[in-house]
Amino acid sequence: MIDLHCHTTFSDGTLSPTALVTHAASAGVRLLAITDHDTVQGWDIAIEAARSAGIELLCGVELSTRLSGVSRSVHLLGYFSSRPDPAFVTWLHELQESRRIRNATLLARLQQLGVDAQWSEVAALAQQQVGRPHFAILLVRKGYVKNLSEAFEIYLGEGGKAWVGREEPTLAEALERLRIAGALSSLAHPVRISRDWKRLDQLIAEYAGRGLNAIECYHSEHSAEDIAQLSALANRHGLTLTGGSDFHGDTKPGVNIGVGLTRSPLVPALLADHLRARIGLVRSSDRNADSLLSLATRRPRRAANR
Ligand code: AMP
Ligand code: FE
Ligand code: FE
Ligand code: ZN
Repeated sequence: MIDLHCHTTFSDGTLSPTALVTHAASAGVRLLAITDHDTVQGWDIAIEAARSAGIELLCGVELSTRLSGVSRSVHLLGYFSSRPDPAFVTWLHELQESRRIRNATLLARLQQLGVDAQWSEVAALAQQQVGRPHFAILLVRKGYVKNLSEAFEIYLGEGGKAWVGREEPTLAEALERLRIAGALSSLAHPVRISRDWKRLDQLIAEYAGRGLNAIECYHSEHSAEDIAQLSALANRHGLTLTGGSDFHGDTKPGVNIGVGLTRSPLVPALLADHLRARIGLVRSSDRNADSLLSLATRRPRRAANR
């Protein structure tokens, strides 16, 4: 199985990078990507575990970007064959700083609303990086809301009482940063932008011309109809298909690694070779790295949509 969208304790997931790898291996995942929000640190920790488990592990990241006319952040995935260069990592540190500023304002706003919450309590729920799900867990534990989705609906989401925006790069800037860093870029769960397929088509046409390489066609939130629409769209614009569960462990109950909300693999196994080649992934045991990469560049575009 393939799962190219997973979170660990380095962002808002509940499994450590090594626990994620072990869990993925036992679930039958063979090609895995860690795609934490704004950080690639989990990959460094997990790569050895992945080698021992015989899993191919991609280094990924999920970026929150802004796009005019879209009220929610637009999520963009980036995939690297190994750790990205220091310039890209420095840029990630800037994004983490904007997240820290947002978190402080968010806490102050919750306190103004009369919520009894201290920074130490929120921070204690996170291992590395604090995100809104950690605020959500605290709101549930303290009885302000019934569950995580209510926490987002009432307090933390766009339109929620404590909603705070965050300084985010534009989608165009994030694409350019990924391109320079040599990553494969993929638009995450595009249906969260819109299910107006014409509008999505126009948007993706524009960004395909600005460096977007792929779209996340397979995702826990995508219906069969979404998948059909998105793969047709990718086909029209010569984009690669990616997919993953968006596994977060206990922060997204019901979403299982490799299969999402279902019992069968989310991502067609046939995509594996193509994705490996596109991302330049080389198995740790593969000594013919160059041939794999040159194969990727020689491959006709249509192969992207197998
Ligand atoms: P942040 O990156 O800190 O702004 O937090 C965003 C994360 O919160 C997303 O990646 C999801 O994991 C989670 N999230 C966003 N909206 C919801 C929601 N309505 N219900 C549950 N979790 C959500
Ligand atoms: Fe998340
Ligand atoms: Fe996302
Ligand atoms: Zn995600």
